[in-house]
Amino acid sequence: MTRPAYVLMLAIGLATALAVSQAPLDRSTTASSVAAADEGGLSEKDFTATVADDSPVAAVVPRDEGTNASAAEPQKQLFTGQVVFLGEALKRRKVESYDEEIKDQVVLETDDGELIPIVPDWRGRAFYQDERLRNRKVELVGYRRPKVPYLEVLMVFVFDDNGERQYMDYWCDICSIPMYEIQPCICCQAPIRIRFQKKDLPDYLKRPSQ
Ligand SMILES: [Zn+2]
Repeated sequence: MTRPAYVLMLAIGLATALAVSQAPLDRSTTASSVAAADEGGLSEKDFTATVADDSPVAAVVPRDEGTNASAAEPQKQLFTGQVVFLGEALKRRKVESYDEEIKDQVVLETDDGELIPIVPDWRGRAFYQDERLRNRKVELVGYRRPKVPYLEVLMVFVFDDNGERQYMDYWCDICSIPMYEIQPCICCQAPIRIRFQKKDLPDYLKRPSQ
């Protein structure tokens, strides 16, 4: 091999290696900066201006980075049931599993007994963090992408002891801003509290009986 040819091949090899090593990095950088910019991806304002009119302003709809099959925007739906730990729900169905691998996974156990795992994202993560949200009747607005079993939660409603529907989020009394997972206030760093507000479902999800 001549020297110029060798140098050329070396350069091509380097460029390829760089491209391969940087591609995933670029994607994750983009994803995390988007998340940081709007406090975790989708804002509820995108979906329900009437219900969550105090949510942070953002309009970034995550783009599918995987297959073309899920390129279409998923349809928001209402999911009802109780959020429980997967291991416990499986046990009730006589399915044995090792606790170590499964212990943190929560699922929505729907009214008709289906188990739908919840994505621990900006909205679904609270179900992993906060036991007050588990083992009680909930109504979740969210969606499932084609061929993906997970539920991506967008809005959380729980029912109180009187059977009243309450919209749930977290709130900083000092800064008057809502948040959606347990964390120090994103503004003043003080502890935040869980907040319940009596609210109806968004109009686009109301059933005839409601
Ligand atoms: Zn604050």
